[in-house]
Amino acid sequence: MDSIAIYVLLLLAIIAGWALGRFTFVPRRLNTRSSNDIFADYFVGLNYLLNDEPDEAIDTFIKALEINSETIETHLALGALLRRRGKVDKAIQVHQALLARPGLDHQFSESTRLQLAIDYISAGLLDRAERLLNDVLDEGGVGKWDALKHLVTIYQTEKDWDKAIQCSAALLSNASFKKDDELRAAAAHYCCELAEEWLRENQQKKAREQIKKAFAFDRKNVRASLLLAKIEQSAGNYKAAIKELTRIRNNNPEFISKLLGPLAECYEQLQNMPEYEKLLTNILPDEPDVSVVLALSDLVTRRSGEEAAIEFLNDYLTRKPSLTGLVELLRLQIEKTDPNLKSNLNLLQQMIDKLLRRKSTYQCHHCGYETKNLYWMCPSCQKWDKIKPIPEAGNS
Ligand SMILES: [Zn+2]
Repeated sequence: MDSIAIYVLLLLAIIAGWALGRFTFVPRRLNTRSSNDIFADYFVGLNYLLNDEPDEAIDTFIKALEINSETIETHLALGALLRRRGKVDKAIQVHQALLARPGLDHQFSESTRLQLAIDYISAGLLDRAERLLNDVLDEGGVGKWDALKHLVTIYQTEKDWDKAIQCSAALLSNASFKKDDELRAAAAHYCCELAEEWLRENQQKKAREQIKKAFAFDRKNVRASLLLAKIEQSAGNYKAAIKELTRIRNNNPEFISKLLGPLAECYEQLQNMPEYEKLLTNILPDEPDVSVVLALSDLVTRRSGEEAAIEFLNDYLTRKPSLTGLVELLRLQIEKTDPNLKSNLNLLQQMIDKLLRRKSTYQCHHCGYETKNLYWMCPSCQKWDKIKPIPEAGNS
């Protein structure tokens, strides 16, 4: 809904509220402003709206509206509108004024506290928001689930992973959130954060416990699988590490470039490079990521020398032309070429290399943010697991 439509709806709500107040026989307080004043205020507000000055319009409407049971929802809507327009201080004032009203109905008190908590989060006053939300949570009313959602946001911002996991688990116990993939992915990452902390302290057992918890939230979590593979590898369990890395390849094939390094190390330790070469050769035909070709070219060089690698690359590039593959081919061929051509080819190789290095290798599938580094949470849209390797990275 565009903002004009919101204002028009608000205006209608305000007029309805005014009409109710005007024509309902409710004993009025002594200091109540005359209805003529209020009506004049509505026209001033309307005038601001028509002149495209929504902030002034909102102020005037708030001034015109007395808080009573008929206008509470309108106040809540105006407060939320103020916050969305970046006027967090004013939103806080509106919501605090509502809360200060004696005898506020429990349902409204709950929704007002939730709104005030969102104001506090927007203003960076996280401890105040946390206190309000915990109160709502403790009361166990219908607002409990919203409170939990906002608490997860707060604990994630504060990097209080234990509490973030606790609130996520509580949310996921509700049938309507159970299948929320984003919630599950985020919870798995909180466990990974803890696992990484334990790994930094060399506490493999505790890290494994967190990874197990991460898998309970999201078995296909790439980060948890990479961590587990790393632990298995450092413990000398190379076969288990390969199994976990292969699982990533099956569930999230776009992450292949992150798997090649550890896979090569594990097969090396098992002294079974032919098996590794077989694996790469099998996946090559359907693999869009050029890093597999480079890894294979390297394996062929080690096994049968550079001539064999040149032949392999030539054969591959005629079927699937790629700049990265071409640079590798040039690198192998330059040494064997005519000295007159050598410096030109060297220059060409350097230029293509430079061109390729400038390209981003990862992209957020949610907001399109491009980066050279892999972030589990997108720095732009703050979503987990949305940044993925660009499959054609390095290709022309
Ligand atoms: Zn993003």
